[in-house]
Amino acid sequence: MSDNNTIQAVRGMNDILPDEAELWLWFEEVVRDWLHSYGYRNIRMPLVEPTALFKRAIGEVTDIVEKEMYSFEDAMNGDHLTLRPEGTASCVRAVLQHNLLYNAPQRLYYNGQMFRHERPQKGRYRQFHQFGVEALGYAGPDIDAEQILMCARLWKKLGLRDVTLQLNTLGDSASRHRHRTKLIAYFEQHKSALDADAERRLHSNPLRILDSKNPAMQELIAGAPKLMDELEDEALQHFSAVQATLVQHGVPFEINPRLVRGLDYYNRTVFEWVTTRLGAQGTICAGGRYDGLVEQIGGKPVPAIGFAMGVERLLALLQEDGMALPKPQVDVYVVHQGESASQLASRVAEQLRNESLRVVLHCGGGSFKSQMKKADGSGAQVAVVIGDDEAHANEASVKPMQGGEQVRVGVQNLAATIIKFIK
Ligand code: ATP
Ligand code: MG
Repeated sequence: MSDNNTIQAVRGMNDILPDEAELWLWFEEVVRDWLHSYGYRNIRMPLVEPTALFKRAIGEVTDIVEKEMYSFEDAMNGDHLTLRPEGTASCVRAVLQHNLLYNAPQRLYYNGQMFRHERPQKGRYRQFHQFGVEALGYAGPDIDAEQILMCARLWKKLGLRDVTLQLNTLGDSASRHRHRTKLIAYFEQHKSALDADAERRLHSNPLRILDSKNPAMQELIAGAPKLMDELEDEALQHFSAVQATLVQHGVPFEINPRLVRGLDYYNRTVFEWVTTRLGAQGTICAGGRYDGLVEQIGGKPVPAIGFAMGVERLLALLQEDGMALPKPQVDVYVVHQGESASQLASRVAEQLRNESLRVVLHCGGGSFKSQMKKADGSGAQVAVVIGDDEAHANEASVKPMQGGEQVRVGVQNLAATIIKFIK
């Protein structure tokens, strides 16, 4: 029962309860195995970073930095801090701070909470989780293609249907500069059709206007000058090579010239994996090349590419597909009654855990009958029953929960007997 005094979680920040957490654990394990199969290594960064890091990396005139960051002043020393809205900036900061790129490229991944002050709705939360994947020190189209193929393999492994790949290139800075000039001229001609965001960004960051989700702006955006028409040969060749590898591997894609991504640091290859099944929150994974970011954060120029998956959206898709939750993982439930039985039960439980069995020792007393009900509800495959009678003989009874004969064995044979029952 809740009353007015009950404190609730912050809006848009979800508890993940044990039943659902089973699915999360399974998912995290699948993803980790998949990442290791491509040679990626784990890195863990703090949840809080200096605000300046995100302003510099993501760009001042972006949705994230303008509206979505949880920023605050440290009450102790006045530092300007931000709960991380994404992981790439932190990852690059960590790599530079610890000189990881000194003489080797790096394939890195991280996972965990991200924070954005958005309007909460299905698939869009204020605390959400990402798996982020970054390859630093790689310039060629081979790694771009590999990251996309990797994703395709994961969707297959997870049994996801209806996920499509959108692909674009953002070219290099010279072509972006030419495109920017043309965009400004175009949108200036249609100034009366711009919404407030677009008008504000017209001169500071016109590319962002292409990223607008406002339906009223879509027609105008569709007619805007295309970056593709400005691309230099080198960027075009890079893009063609990425596409050729995808074709070779039979990974279908759609080129979407309006895919510009919500962060400033991207160049050349950008991509999003999209489903039609999560309403407006259809992007489950997104990324791209960010050759300028390392230098922007204060290092020597290092080419790099990465992507991030939204865990809540991926799990929502899996659940929609009727993905069955894994069963709670307990092998044995130990019921016991009486002073010496309880002492033996506690020793037996520890001993069974030595044999790698998953054991719940009943705590809190009660009749055998009520303890057996708990054993039933625990999902354990067998109950171990110890009364004073068994305790005096240094024995225990093993009862298979799915039915079948109860057997009484000496404590030294208990583990072997149980293992026979649970296979
Ligand atoms: P969107 O266009 O949906 O706002 P985005 O471009 O802001 O997404 P990215 O910064 O690319 O998102 O983050 C990568 C992925 O993280 C997204 O594709 C999505 O799956 C997930 N994601 C982003 N924001 C949220 C959020 N507020 N709640 C849940 N998942 C999110
Ligand atoms: Mg967003």
